[in-house]
Amino acid sequence: MKIRKGDTVEVIRGEDKGTRGTVREVVHGKSRDGAVDPNGDRVFISGVNMVKKHQRRTGDVRTQVGIIEREASLHVSNVALVCPHCNKAARVGYLVQPDGSKVRVCKNCHETIE
Ligand SMILES: [Zn+2]
Repeated sequence: MKIRKGDTVEVIRGEDKGTRGTVREVVHGKSRDGAVDPNGDRVFISGVNMVKKHQRRTGDVRTQVGIIEREASLHVSNVALVCPHCNKAARVGYLVQPDGSKVRVCKNCHETIE
C-alpha cells in the first residue's frame, strides 16, 4: 500500500481529476475473513469526491436527517501521492534500507518520502 493516512494525494482520474487533498482514511481491500476484496484498497480524501446523500429518518435521534454531504471513497488507482519535495503527483517506488525497512521514494526526483 503506497498511500497512507495523512498523505497529500492528487486525483488522477475521474471527475475530480487534478484535485488535491489529504488522505483521511485508508480502507484496505480485505474483508474480515482475509479474502481479497475485488474492489481493492480505497481511500477517503478530505473534501474530495463529495456526494450528496439523502438521509431518511431512522428512528435514531442522533442521525442527521435531510441532504447531507459526505466524502465517497476513491480507489487507490485513481489517486497519486504528491511528492513533498517536487510537489508533483509522483510515481512511488520503494528503497530497502540497510536495516531491511522500506522507504517510499519519488520516482520523479528520487527523494525519499516519509
Ligand atoms: Zn519528488
